[in-house]
Parts: sequence; C-alpha cells; structure tokens
Amino acid sequence: MLRRNTNQRQIVYEALKILGHATTDELIKYINENYENISLATIYRNLGIMLDDEQIKKVKLQDCEVYETVKLKHYHFVCKHCGKIIDITPTEANTFIDSKRYVGNNRVDDLEVTYYGTCEECLKNILN
Ligand SMILES: [Zn+2]
Ligand SMILES: [Zn+2]
Repeated sequence: MLRRNTNQRQIVYEALKILGHATTDELIKYINENYENISLATIYRNLGIMLDDEQIKKVKLQDCEVYETVKLKHYHFVCKHCGKIIDITPTEANTFIDSKRYVGNNRVDDLEVTYYGTCEECLKNILN
C-alpha cells in the first residue's frame, strides 16, 4: 500500500515537471493519457503531501491556480493570447531582493511578480 502511494506520487511529480505549470485538470488529463488512471482524490492527496514537503508550489494567477515543481526563485509571465506561462528569473525582471531593501520603513523579504502580456511567439504571429 505504501509503495503504491509512493509510485503514484512519483507519477504526479514527474507529470508536473514535464508540464512545467499545470492546473489540476491539466495534470489529471496528462496523467490519464500518459501513465495510468489515477483518481482525482489520489491526485489531490498527493499534491497536498508534496506541498507540505515543499516539493511543489501552488501559484495563484489572475484567473487560475497552477502547480509547479519547486525550482529556483522566479516570477511568471502569462500570455494573454495563448495562456502560456513562462518563468522569468529575478535577473531578467531586474527585481533582486536583498536584505537591505525597504518599502517605507518596512523590510522586504520576498516579492512575487506576475507579468501579463504577449509572449514572443504570439508577438511574431501578430507582426506577420
Ligand atoms: Zn502567447
Ligand atoms: Zn514557474
């Protein structure tokens, strides 16, 4: 029983890693098409365990919530045309946080940034 759960968790993790960012619907569809049928309840349970273990993260965007595996600190760019979610490094965003940064008299420890716009590919399509 324990082993079976572990295998299913690995499948959920691997699928999420391949997808990059996924809603639960996208994740379930992908797993059922590429691995095996895992029930919705099992997927939710495994997502919960991996969230607690800090193996994965939940990202809240304007109109959805997606999961992703934990990677280096990054922000997101969401394409309003195709819905693609792109990881943006703090360097690209020019928003590195150091321990000396203050907003008013309040020390900044973390920053979440989400950009909304038109991705590189959609820009090409618009311009052509
Ligand atoms: Zn796009
Ligand atoms: Zn991301």
